[in-house]
Amino acid sequence: MTTSSSTIESTLIENRVFPPPESLARTARIAGMEAYHALCAEAEKDYEGFWARLAREHLQWTRPFTRTLDATNAPFYQWFADGELNASANCLDKHMGTPTENKTALIFEADDGSVTRVSYKELLARVSQFANALKALGVNKGDRVLIYMPMSIEGVVAMQACARIGATHSVVFGGFSAKAVHERIIDAGAVAVITANYQMRGGKELPLKSIIDEALAMGGCECVRNVLVYQRTATPCAMVAGRDKTFAEVLAGQGSDCAPVSVGAEHPLFVLYTSGSTGKPKGVQHSTGGYLLWAKATMDWTFDLRPEDVFWCTADIGWITGHTYVAYGPLAAGATQIVFEGVPTYPNAARFWQMIERHKCSIFYTAPTAIRSLIKAADTDAAVHPARFDLSSLRILGSVGEPINPEAWMWYYKNVGGERCPIVDTFWQTETGGHVITPLPGATPLVPGSCTLPLPGIMAAIVDEVGNDIPNGVGGILVIKRPWPSMIRTIWGDPERFKKSYFPEELKGYYLAGDGAVRSADRGYFRITGRIDDVLNVSGHRMGTMEIESALVAKTDLVAEAAVVGRPDDVTGEAICAFVVLKRPLPKGEEAHQIANELRNWVAKEIGPIAKPKDIRFGENLPKTRSGKIMRRLLRSIARGEAITQDTSTLENPAILEQLSQSN
Ligand code: ATP
Ligand code: MG
Repeated sequence: MTTSSSTIESTLIENRVFPPPESLARTARIAGMEAYHALCAEAEKDYEGFWARLAREHLQWTRPFTRTLDATNAPFYQWFADGELNASANCLDKHMGTPTENKTALIFEADDGSVTRVSYKELLARVSQFANALKALGVNKGDRVLIYMPMSIEGVVAMQACARIGATHSVVFGGFSAKAVHERIIDAGAVAVITANYQMRGGKELPLKSIIDEALAMGGCECVRNVLVYQRTATPCAMVAGRDKTFAEVLAGQGSDCAPVSVGAEHPLFVLYTSGSTGKPKGVQHSTGGYLLWAKATMDWTFDLRPEDVFWCTADIGWITGHTYVAYGPLAAGATQIVFEGVPTYPNAARFWQMIERHKCSIFYTAPTAIRSLIKAADTDAAVHPARFDLSSLRILGSVGEPINPEAWMWYYKNVGGERCPIVDTFWQTETGGHVITPLPGATPLVPGSCTLPLPGIMAAIVDEVGNDIPNGVGGILVIKRPWPSMIRTIWGDPERFKKSYFPEELKGYYLAGDGAVRSADRGYFRITGRIDDVLNVSGHRMGTMEIESALVAKTDLVAEAAVVGRPDDVTGEAICAFVVLKRPLPKGEEAHQIANELRNWVAKEIGPIAKPKDIRFGENLPKTRSGKIMRRLLRSIARGEAITQDTSTLENPAILEQLSQSN
């Protein structure tokens, strides 16, 4: 990527360093950097032995494995392949007869603020009953079940019930269109769909079941025999006789005991379609053993989970974060966790802070997009500022999904964490199954905007386009050099695409993450600079879009959010275009012109004149995926003045494209 041409050293070099709080450095599961390095050394010395030890410690096997890694058909790696286990048993049954059985597993807070609690014992009974209902409908081990549910206890129950009988679930976020659902039903060959009549978001009742009806009516979905409908609200929905049944109907008469089905470690626990920031969604297939191992181990390591913690991951179960850190990891670790149905801005932008206070949340894990929107809200309305709430229960904060700009990091650290809570900026992907590069709260000195160091056993590195290592301080492409247990197994139904996307020939068999990164010269810390496609080349200087975006967002009096893309330019090769959301109403005419100039000069001062955006466009928002990530590929088309022909099925707010196209 950056070996030949000159590289701009970011002037955003971060000198702020935050050591772990003293108490955590003493008591955490991985306490201090020496403990971290010792684990890394163990993995270096005996890679398979390291993973085998963890797999025995963190999981209960119905049949112990004898082989750890099988690389004979690389890159289709197999882990613990002759071992057998059940994921649901490892999340629920294993706690029975221990003090955890009567502990609260889920604290569900609905959109309207009502709260329901479920203990581990009750959750096991509900999962078992639902599993019996699925079996009665003829759903078998290996069948695929599409889940299109709101955030709910029932959503978690549905996923766990599939796991219990060995059915492979494919959760689709309940904001996707009928077309997107249709594509996924066909690709996965689902035999059943689990949905709800409606969902509640921000006080509004939004349809789910009618979208499933629409998707199934698009044709080619004969594979679907049953549609199970959870009555989330009292409003009736259309039901197709013979095909559709309510939860009440299918659960009636089913007992609350169901023996978990033992499956091979490589059995596909789920297929999850990626969010679509960069192209056509891929059905990422995960295993049972390796995946669950990492879901559990990272709960212990990254979040240093303690029995008394109240854990809250705000991600929807429709995303990988909601799989690993809502549906599986916290349960496997025996945590009490909050599950939230609504949105961070309803009834107002203090919702998260109120909920942390109300439930005495101690570990809070959210996304930069949410943090940025709450900063913007708190800046304009003191009543929703976190300072107004008692957040003293918090001890660890987390961030996931996108790089977090250093200024947003600082705000989160000061205003939410009270300068007391480490922030774990966890870098990972749908494909990695769990965290891969992240600080450890009791060990790693934190640097804002950096995901710091790989977890023990994860051989992450930065290389050039032929797989050679690149020195610290120089940007390159992020790879993982050795297979690890929770990695993607294949793209569902498309092994060729799997090989091409993640193990390109020129990269020496390394796993290609698709992100650019740089390691700091002093500490060797990783910083993600953006997707590989997002690297800009201006007059031979290579820059990550992230650097320029962070510089813009650092203009805290003006800028709420920014996205940067390149467009071809006759003179400079590529020109920088910035799309900016201001903390004030959309400027027009002369005012827009003036603000744009002010921002250009600001970037020139922060990074250098070469990084000055040529075009600056203002919008009330940016095009985002439904998981809240900026869709730069669409912005690239707008910047080039092209019509948008790409797949926009995962776009949250289509109207914004029009506004940005015109705002030139
Ligand atoms: P698609 O692969 O369909 O384009 P996606 O990559 O957005 O979608 P995910 O697997 O949900 O889907 O997201 C993983 C990506 O999110 C990473 O590759 C990286 O670009 C970004 N990311 C996640 N966490 C972090 C983080 N802590 N720091 C920087 N980037 C992050
Ligand atoms: Mg991706």
